[in-house]
Amino acid sequence: MGDLKPLKLYNTRTHIVETFSPLFDDEVRVYVCGLTPSGEAHLGHARSFLFFDVLRRYLEHRGYRVTYVQNVTDIDDRSIATARERGKTYREIVDANYASFKNSMRRLGVREPDREPYATHYVPQIQAMIRSLIAKGHAYAVRDGIYYAVRTFPTYGSLSRRNVEELEAGARIEIGEHKRDPLDFAVWKFAKDGEPSWPFDPYGAGRPGWHIECSAMTRELLDPPGIGFDIHGGGADLIFPHHENEIAQSEPLMRHPPMANVWVHGGLLLFDSRKMSKSLGNFEPLSALLERHDPQAIRLLFLQTGYRKVMNFTEESVSAARVVLERLKKTYRSLQPAGASVSRANGDTLLDRVAAALDDDMNTAVALAEVLQAQAPSRDAFERSLALLGIAPDATWLVESQATLPADFIQRLATALAGEVELDGVSAEQAVERIIASRREARECRDWKRSDRLRDALATCGVDLHDTKEGTTWSVA
Ligand SMILES: [Zn+2]
Repeated sequence: MGDLKPLKLYNTRTHIVETFSPLFDDEVRVYVCGLTPSGEAHLGHARSFLFFDVLRRYLEHRGYRVTYVQNVTDIDDRSIATARERGKTYREIVDANYASFKNSMRRLGVREPDREPYATHYVPQIQAMIRSLIAKGHAYAVRDGIYYAVRTFPTYGSLSRRNVEELEAGARIEIGEHKRDPLDFAVWKFAKDGEPSWPFDPYGAGRPGWHIECSAMTRELLDPPGIGFDIHGGGADLIFPHHENEIAQSEPLMRHPPMANVWVHGGLLLFDSRKMSKSLGNFEPLSALLERHDPQAIRLLFLQTGYRKVMNFTEESVSAARVVLERLKKTYRSLQPAGASVSRANGDTLLDRVAAALDDDMNTAVALAEVLQAQAPSRDAFERSLALLGIAPDATWLVESQATLPADFIQRLATALAGEVELDGVSAEQAVERIIASRREARECRDWKRSDRLRDALATCGVDLHDTKEGTTWSVA
């Protein structure tokens, strides 16, 4: 590790930015809560997993041997309900959504986890943990399941800085639940008729609760001695109750808490300033979104925003990221290929600057800015810096994008515009520029209808407009 500068990371557990150091030598064990594929993944998931992908790459760059585990919650109430609605098995629902998610992750350049444990493959470990919790008085069985007794864990709420008394006031027991305290949560749910289940003597067949899965799998895969692992990650929406509950289940059974030395959480993602949800009608599956947008542009967009911040996704923001992507490609094309006589010092400087930005609580925005401002590094150094951010130039980066408009473009555009803009005697490219200028005038007059009409006319003819701070650019769809 030698002369490396320290890596600083914000630790949700201690609520401060700390110098990261692994528990053992140069080995870093990371657990990130994975997808519950009862539904389709969305862009919020992508943001979180993409950040942990960059963190993992950077830890490896620093010379650590990283073990990255990301679980799959392949059984839950919703997958059972969805299966019933659609006349399928929960396994079919989960497998289809998970395969789609994995494909999206590949497209975004997110590497595969080292271990990808499915909850249903760890039922014996989950049950062993539940038995231990019951034996120690932290869990109890009632008619509908086995619950964790939150009041038996005195530091409950410390991760999320919540006060148990206040939580108690806001909690209630739902119909059909037989828990003793509204704060208690299920570690095992007894099966109702027709539900998938696993035998559990002497308590009763059923399925695990969500929180206990992570506690059991982290213990089995990362921390068999019960002395803790390095980094536990997830989206900020998991801090409470999921991560609080994981801690409450794991720590009473450990030889040496805490469960995880550092807790790292990615910020939430909003869509046009709203949470994405099916009920709001703004839900778009990740797979569909990646059909509309270049996955590398999406990646850049995430990198431009601090990982802990709430991020607002808009069509304009992704258009701006596309412009940044084009800038990167242009720089790449202008660089000398590897092997050419380029000062190595330049390249090392770039890599050092990118690393310095990441040392500062993974400031990917500054890291990306360093790459964009780089003064003629070698192509090799440029690639290594991009690789730290998970961006891999492919063959298309070397090809100047040829905006080829079809021969009948002007004719089609004239029809779409119905004479609204004069197009006589101009080339196809000039026509596009003319529409952009007309649209700019319309926007200056706050004539949004006309502005949209012009944009739509171009879109029907296969030209997309991208509004950025620097002005409007266009591309052939
Ligand atoms: Zn978890």
